[in-house]
Amino acid sequence: ATSQRVINFGAGPSALPDSVLEDATKGLLNFDNTGIGIAEISHRSPEFTAYLASVEALIRQQLNVPSTHSILFTQGGGTGQFSAVVLNLLARHRLLYPDLREEERNLDYVLTGSWSLAAWKEGVRLGGGKVNVVADGRRGSEDGKTFDNVPGRDSFRFSENPALVYYCENETVNGVQFKHALSDGDSQEEKEEEEGMFPFHLLPKDQLVPLVGDYSSSFMSRSIPHLADHAVIYAGAQKNIGPAGLTILIVRNDCIVDVDTAAQLGAQPVPITLSYKTLAEGNSVYNTPPVLAIYISGLVLKRNAELGGVEYYERVNRRKAEMVYECLRLGEGKGVFKGYVKKGSESWMNVVFVVLGEGKEKEFLKGAEERGMVGIKGHRSVGGIRISLYNAITEEQTEKLVKYMREFVESQ
Ligand code: PLP
Repeated sequence: ATSQRVINFGAGPSALPDSVLEDATKGLLNFDNTGIGIAEISHRSPEFTAYLASVEALIRQQLNVPSTHSILFTQGGGTGQFSAVVLNLLARHRLLYPDLREEERNLDYVLTGSWSLAAWKEGVRLGGGKVNVVADGRRGSEDGKTFDNVPGRDSFRFSENPALVYYCENETVNGVQFKHALSDGDSQEEKEEEEGMFPFHLLPKDQLVPLVGDYSSSFMSRSIPHLADHAVIYAGAQKNIGPAGLTILIVRNDCIVDVDTAAQLGAQPVPITLSYKTLAEGNSVYNTPPVLAIYISGLVLKRNAELGGVEYYERVNRRKAEMVYECLRLGEGKGVFKGYVKKGSESWMNVVFVVLGEGKEKEFLKGAEERGMVGIKGHRSVGGIRISLYNAITEEQTEKLVKYMREFVESQ
């Protein structure tokens, strides 16, 4: 059956390594020699709680998460966190500044694509106070409407003492990603330049800034710059790590607050399963967690560690992205393709472009499918083509795609 598998460049849920899926079938029948399958075992069994602790350790190790931060597991996806970060961090703000009036509380959002926009909308719904746009990528686009860039750091306007500062590191739909200080291959100068693209270290250091990063579509694909400066980093598992159903959080310990005390002081009550304190105190098993998704994610993370961790993926993913963008530029030169994203903001994970000419997109999609490559149709909101290059996509598979793209360009 595995030989019938196609190359799945889908944006998520997305491909998982064959070897992991094969291992997972064994665990489905007999988890950790218990004689009980992973989908059947109690989440409070010693075998599962030990497994959960090992998954946490794998994440802590690979991303170098310091002891100032807790790793929590929950459900509800990225969308659940659009709400949870607002409620938990407004509760924190209330405890820190009980006398501030509602209208003096600010939430800061950086808008770079449709996912940060969706998070901002939830901030407006739940926020109560002021919801400030720190920067808006659309302003820098030609038509003023397209998310095709990460705005330059000079244009960032933070508000004073915000309850949170929110950004989405990789915009899955638009293919816009923050630039990354690379760990190898680049000169010191290039590294410093790239480092400068990440503007949040400009935030005041004397207070614990509540910086929130949505890493749903880039988690574990490369290292996280300034991880320790973040209040909350979160990601749904279903792109780089495992099946849908699991949401991973890295929360700085001062952001795990007593939401009920905050509510007594006037903050909004926080639903029990959205409270970070509930998750932390319950060791992420306050209620039944997505056991199967945790299991498969653990297998993926274990395999990552064997391959060389996040540094390994950083090298491989960079090469994959370079290959595809190089071919995209070739196609642009010949008037066959047109990239969606401005130079310097191109995502390593989601390459978005259009195929120029009447009926050509269909032709491109059809040719890909005939060659066993699927999942490359762009998101319905932006159209075009989107190639997702998450961790499970190999360099060989990327080469196959690039070969096809090149053939397509030459045939036009
Ligand atoms: N944030 C980003 C960057 C995403 O790509 C997605 C989904 O694709 C979400 C948030 C929403 O995640 P979920 O569907 O898990 O709620």
